Amino acid sequence: MDNMYDVAIIGAGISGLFIAYELAQKKLRVLVVDKKSEPGFGVSKAHAAIIHVVQLPFKSLKSRLAREGNKMYDEICRRLGVKLVRLRTLVVARNPLHLLLLPFMYWYLKRNIGSEFPVSLVLSRKKLKKIEPGLSRRVLGGIVIGGYGIVNPFDLMYALYEFSIQNGVDFRFNTEVTGIRVEEDYVEIITSSGVYRSHYLINAAGLYADDIARMVGDSIKIELGKGVLIVFEKTPLRNIVAPAYLIPSPKTKGGAAMLTTEGRGIWGPNLTPIKSKENVSVEERDVKSILGKFSPLIDGDLGVPLKAFAGVRPIPEGNDFVIRFSSNSKRVIHVAGIESPGFTAAPAIAKRVLALLSDAGLNLVKKEEIFERIPPRRLREIEVSEAYLGRLGKVVCICNMVSEAEVREAIRRGSRTLQGVMFRTGAGMGLCQGSMCVAEILRIMSGELKVSLEDLTLRGGGSWIVKKRE
Ligand SMILES: Cc1cc2nc3c(=O)[nH]c(=O)nc-3n(C[C@H](O)[C@H](O)[C@H](O)COP(=O)(O)OP(=O)(O)OC[C@H]3O[C@@H](n4cnc5c(N)ncnc54)[C@H](O)[C@@H]3O)c2cc1C
Repeated sequence: MDNMYDVAIIGAGISGLFIAYELAQKKLRVLVVDKKSEPGFGVSKAHAAIIHVVQLPFKSLKSRLAREGNKMYDEICRRLGVKLVRLRTLVVARNPLHLLLLPFMYWYLKRNIGSEFPVSLVLSRKKLKKIEPGLSRRVLGGIVIGGYGIVNPFDLMYALYEFSIQNGVDFRFNTEVTGIRVEEDYVEIITSSGVYRSHYLINAAGLYADDIARMVGDSIKIELGKGVLIVFEKTPLRNIVAPAYLIPSPKTKGGAAMLTTEGRGIWGPNLTPIKSKENVSVEERDVKSILGKFSPLIDGDLGVPLKAFAGVRPIPEGNDFVIRFSSNSKRVIHVAGIESPGFTAAPAIAKRVLALLSDAGLNLVKKEEIFERIPPRRLREIEVSEAYLGRLGKVVCICNMVSEAEVREAIRRGSRTLQGVMFRTGAGMGLCQGSMCVAEILRIMSGELKVSLEDLTLRGGGSWIVKKRE
């Protein structure tokens, strides 16, 4: 049967993509379905992209998988041609009470993760400033934890997507799963664009993993926690800076002043309990509380604030990842409640899912031939003289130095929406936030995709951008 797969994955977020990447290397027929128009348009679209080290409690599954996933990142990023920057996190004290607590925190961290990641206590402001010149003079001391990382999350997700496609995985976007029937030998997946069958099904549906679980008769409870992040034009920081807390929260690490691989500052996130999965509003109080929390820790030029955005965490009951078989059948595996640090943990989550598949009886045989991904060339990453040879065409986005050829290449590699092109290339994400290049990008998209401007959308669905004059 043509619609029969070995493994079907619901969700092309970071969890589903890493699972697809692993399965693409095995002799299997694999399908990924997602109701959005492009990969990574769910929870994985709006987060901080920090490869974390410290996640409390250390014995939790999310903490263990984050440490395991963290260590896998160098090898994966090298293989896929994705930039990974390794840096440190400084947990700093600004008042004497917090300073007094630092030795205890240090001892606790050293004891729990000291054998895996470097941890040091620095009780001198001068020494700390040497490690991180962007720190405010009000900081008295801190704990320095090595092994953190930053990646461009879209580079990584598109790389995983392209690698999976090149190695035979089928993707169906704009395809919403509306029902599931679990039979003895296979699972039937009813979607908005047809019915698929698969021997095994992975529920990696992010915020909607509870709905998918319900379709197979399981109950998984998810709470929603909105987090706002503010992006600045630049940052004086080379490392992540977080304030020391007296009592850690089980639901959030508390946020930090961070940076992106493009050298921008990114501060947050906070945590607000919400009721709607689609609530990504940013309130004035969010911005004020984030600025109030991190401004006293930093000293230096941040340029102008570029934007504030929100993401929603699927916080599971018990505050830990749910990665297990359905209670009704070993043919279905839930990957639910993948809140922070899910991005960090994703490579290890995928390995765990493969172990469960093997336990359920799936034969995981390595392919003899794997096609490696060739990363796209970027104007801003090559010598100017080479660019002048004209190989990369004219510049479309002046702020981020993105060429017309890069936009065309992004579309050829799968971008179908304006945000897809922006996230893939970085066009429209600089100082002017797209006001100078969006029209030109749309014109190129219309030509490449052979659709009218009115049919192009920001992020799929009904998010049209251009309206014909009546
Ligand atoms: C504000 C914030 C900051 C964060 N910062 C960090 C960080 O710095 N480091 C870190 O490690 N983690 C961080 N995280 C956590 C991380 O973003 C998530 O753990 C991760 O993105 C979850 O990915 P996922 O693939 O499980 O879910 P998703 O990305 O949501 O993917 C699920 C996919 O399933 C699809 N889907 C849902 N229902 C259906 C259906 N019925 N049919 C078809 N498709 C469906 C959705 O469209 C979606 O694309 C942060 C999260 C937030 C909100």
